[in-house]
Amino acid sequence: MSKNKSSESVKVLVRCRPLNRKEESNGPSGGIVQMDLRLGQVILRNPRASHSEPQKTFTFDAVYDANSKQRDLYDESVRPLIDSVLAGFNGTIFAYGQTGTGKTYTMQGMWLDPEKRGVIPNAFDHIFTHISRSQSDKQYLVRASYLEIYREEIRDLLDPNHANARGLELRESPDTGVYVPDLTSCVCKSIKEIEEVMNMGNQARAVAATDMNEYSSRSHALFLITVECGQPGPDGRKHIRVGRLNLVDLAGSERQAKTGVQGERLKEAAKINLSLSALGNVISALADGRSGHVPYRDSKLTRLLQDSLGGNAKTVMVATLGPAPQHYDETLTTLRYANRAKNIQNQPRVNEDPKDALLREFQREIARLRAQLNHRKWRSKQKKEQFDDEGSDQDVGEDAECEEEEVEKEAKEYVEQEEQRLEREKEAIRGDRSLLADEKQRLLGEKERMMGDLRKEQEATEQLTAKYKAMESKLLVGGKNIIDHTNEQQKMLEVKRQEIAEQSRNEREMQQQMLIQDDETLELRETFTSLQQEVEAKTKKLKKLYAKLQCIKAEIQDVNDEHVRSRQELEQTQNELTRELKFKYLIIENFIPPEEKNKIMSRMTFDPEEDQWKFQPLVPAQSKPLQMKKRPTSAVGYKRPISQYARVAITMGANNRFRAENIMFLELDMNPPNTASLGHLKDAEWNFSFSVDNSPTNHRGIHKSRSWCQSQKSLTSSPSNVSLSACNTAMPASAQ
Ligand code: ADP
Ligand code: MG
Repeated sequence: MSKNKSSESVKVLVRCRPLNRKEESNGPSGGIVQMDLRLGQVILRNPRASHSEPQKTFTFDAVYDANSKQRDLYDESVRPLIDSVLAGFNGTIFAYGQTGTGKTYTMQGMWLDPEKRGVIPNAFDHIFTHISRSQSDKQYLVRASYLEIYREEIRDLLDPNHANARGLELRESPDTGVYVPDLTSCVCKSIKEIEEVMNMGNQARAVAATDMNEYSSRSHALFLITVECGQPGPDGRKHIRVGRLNLVDLAGSERQAKTGVQGERLKEAAKINLSLSALGNVISALADGRSGHVPYRDSKLTRLLQDSLGGNAKTVMVATLGPAPQHYDETLTTLRYANRAKNIQNQPRVNEDPKDALLREFQREIARLRAQLNHRKWRSKQKKEQFDDEGSDQDVGEDAECEEEEVEKEAKEYVEQEEQRLEREKEAIRGDRSLLADEKQRLLGEKERMMGDLRKEQEATEQLTAKYKAMESKLLVGGKNIIDHTNEQQKMLEVKRQEIAEQSRNEREMQQQMLIQDDETLELRETFTSLQQEVEAKTKKLKKLYAKLQCIKAEIQDVNDEHVRSRQELEQTQNELTRELKFKYLIIENFIPPEEKNKIMSRMTFDPEEDQWKFQPLVPAQSKPLQMKKRPTSAVGYKRPISQYARVAITMGANNRFRAENIMFLELDMNPPNTASLGHLKDAEWNFSFSVDNSPTNHRGIHKSRSWCQSQKSLTSSPSNVSLSACNTAMPASAQ
């Protein structure tokens, strides 16, 4: 990617957390990460390799070791970015690393301990302190949103129903880039308010998770702050600058085991790190600079961070490492990832007067409300003056210039006086004996109505005032915080601290430059007095270069191994997915009629925006001719066409279900059972008669009712039962 004047690279910081208790108890081997804070270098030792093997060294914009303080990291590396956001740039900070290495600690830290507060709470402080210290002609509007990406779905953490709602969609506009249209955004007026917003979102995250650590290591959390600042420009017109800040706590970067899982679990495993691997691909494509295509569209995360990576934003990446030997592979991968990200070039620019600035809308609305309110008050005042019948020759111009508060006071007075007057008039009507009762009633009603109107008007004015005040209070005006203004010393301290941070940053940059130049100028500085000396020097140099070559060879080998490993994993995932697909095909081919399948297929369309297949609606748009058949007239009022018989049956209230569905009746047989001595029956007398035989003379006086019996058994049965039993006996015979 060609560097142009306004381009700047992504700043990459690396932070290593201290060994935790468990790791310390694992053995005396200590950490595998060493840091040179002055040079910004990380030296990684391979615990499995021999001591002769060279250690791996990486250089970054800044490195923070286990003893680093949250405040130092903020002042040195984040403060300049937040200042840029306040000046109207887009800014992004994202924490990347294995689970448990301190991403959340770096981003959020421990809120209650001022020493351990992370980037986010420090940024809140920074933003609102800046606003309170700015000049009074500046107006600010601060908004915050909080979302997470879990299994490739965007969830709004500030929406109370987010757990049930479907994932949000992404949209792209030429002005603002990629955005989430339906995302809740809260206007915040103070640090307390924005902290409440953050807490609300964190609680929503915690509720969604049964095991917070497990969950947070699989979802990406994005806290978005928009700061709009309006200020009169040199041309006398108000200009608005909009800075957007993304604070991103990514999911754990460790490889999720994808092999050997199926169905839902497979889909989940495939989706969990989709965003992260897509992020890796985007970083590689950008760092490489040669490949024209950057696969931003491969995941939701990369689309949301599109501007932050190679676009209009200033970006800081914090890569977090664990020092334990057992995490060597992951630590190395994180360092490589971070090393690649250093090469990404962004083109940040100030967002001046964007069309969608909310501040402008707010200002317009406030102006409109104020005009409405003034008009109302002025009208009331005028009426009062007429009523008082004093100073009728006062001109309107003078009125308009009146103090707003005076107008308000007079309007109130007018309402009170008017009420008193109406009350007096009512009394007068009541006391007037010359009026008829009807007439009195009518006049009283009229006065009553007038009073009602007056009250309504007053209520409307009050509502308007409340709305106006609420709108106005959302805008923050610079230079209002007097307490803070008096605290000049603190301000000075901060400035000094900033200067020191700036200096150490510059120093490190210079050191790094010197190191690079050292290598280059080595050759130029060498002058040889004898051939022998030259040979020695060249041999030394050869050795140095040879070591370098070995390092690079090892690096290539490592990268190749990693490549092979990830390819194998992908192949395995692909095999699993193909198997799953075959299974689904089998079901479709065998259980879904082809015409149904074709119908479904013809209704499906692919939505590239959402990366999903969708059904076209069955009911056509109004412009298209009706495709759906009308409901048959015979079924008016019923769910489906219904026969005359069924309709009658419904009106009769009989239980008609049984008849239609051939379910046996269990009504009692009303014939009184007759019994006789079994001795009368002979074995040979098998009776297969189903006929109802009531005749006492038949079969020697034995009465059998709807039964067929074998020897002594007498069975009373319904016809359906009979047929079933008959069937059962017939079956084996036919089978033989
Ligand atoms: P992640 O978000 O990357 O999964 P966490 O931020 O939750 O990791 O950190 C895991 C643990 O390590 C936490 O208990 C945290 O307090 C601790 N920790 C992380 N980084 C540091 C640090 N720089 N100093 C002290 N403790 C840390
Ligand atoms: Mg975390």
